[in-house]
Amino acid sequence: MTGRDNNLAAGSHASGRQATPQQVVGALFVDLEGIRARYECLRSGCTQRVEGPVHGATDVQAFVASIRTSHRCTGALR
Ligand SMILES: [Zn+2]
Repeated sequence: MTGRDNNLAAGSHASGRQATPQQVVGALFVDLEGIRARYECLRSGCTQRVEGPVHGATDVQAFVASIRTSHRCTGALR
């Protein structure tokens, strides 16, 4: 039986190392052709899941620049 050895080898390689530490808590959608943007929060429990959409170059620019800080999230951090 070689199955056990294979499992051990695969496990030691795959675990113990995390790739890129990402803190993704929301998704920002920007449509440069329609010139609009919206933000969808991905935290569970958030009562304001969707911000926007906003339209127009000026509004989109301001929205993109500020939404990650201006979004008042009520969801729980994981
Ligand atoms: Zn939120």
